[in-house]
Amino acid sequence: MDVTKFGMKFQGKVAIVTASTQGIGFSIAERLGLEGASVVISSRKQQNVDAAAEKLRAKGIEVSAMVCHVSDAQQRKTMISKTIQKYGKIDVVVSNAAVNPSVEPILQTQDSVLDKLWEINVKSTILLLKDAAPYLKKGSCVVLIASVVAYNPPPTMALYGVSKTAVLGLTKALASEMAPNTRVNCVVPGFVPTHFTALFTTNDATREDLEGKTLLGKLGRTQDMAAAVAFLASDDASYITGENLVVAGGVPSRL
Ligand code: NAP
Repeated sequence: MDVTKFGMKFQGKVAIVTASTQGIGFSIAERLGLEGASVVISSRKQQNVDAAAEKLRAKGIEVSAMVCHVSDAQQRKTMISKTIQKYGKIDVVVSNAAVNPSVEPILQTQDSVLDKLWEINVKSTILLLKDAAPYLKKGSCVVLIASVVAYNPPPTMALYGVSKTAVLGLTKALASEMAPNTRVNCVVPGFVPTHFTALFTTNDATREDLEGKTLLGKLGRTQDMAAAVAFLASDDASYITGENLVVAGGVPSRL
């Protein structure tokens, strides 16, 4: 990555990015960090947290790293309190964690799976922001991560898609509730090869099919999603709130 092309838009800022030890979350932490932010990274597994922190520090980024399973109330609270203890404030919260535990049709999905989708993909964001809210002062911002399948959930990702539709709604509702001090926006990724999508993107035929659905003829990169988050979290977007920014290479999404 050519870091010289970035500005230092986040100098002096503190950014929490959940689920940030690999994939899109890692790239978001990396991008905000390269632009000057102190970043707080986390995920479920200590070894992943340690490895990601080491990679970011090797790039000169100021990092705090800790285990935080987003549905664990104590770990969420500890993440917020450690951030405040160390940096004294929170400027940016990026809520990135999600699961996709089922390919079942909606009406055949077990209760436990329904609960998990709600718990990780929607409720944990609400609870994290509840914990962070007292520290989100004027000029702060929140970026949620949805998915382009939120607009028209396909059969194999129906409930996951619906959980992401809820994230689009949550963006609008929280933007209203947290205004005027905190802006709330959402990045809506298309298909990006990561561990999360390995089932689709490592199969040549499926990958080509997905590429063919884009106007740009290619899948996204984690850095493309990070660039959109960095824009929405920056002062360049200071008059933007309640928006869902699709970053999907032209995959049909909405008017
Ligand atoms: P990924 O590469 O599989 O990375 C997932 C990250 O989340 C890892 O760091 C993982 O680390 C952590 N994690 C998983 N469950 C967690 C939990 N319960 N609490 C805290 N951390 C957790 O995934 P990704 O593709 O970057 O996806 C990130 C976000 O982008 C998700 O919201 C996803 O829905 C969205 N998205 C992705 C795509 C795509 O094509 N990739 C498209 C649309 C939307 P540990 O294993 O250590 O917990």
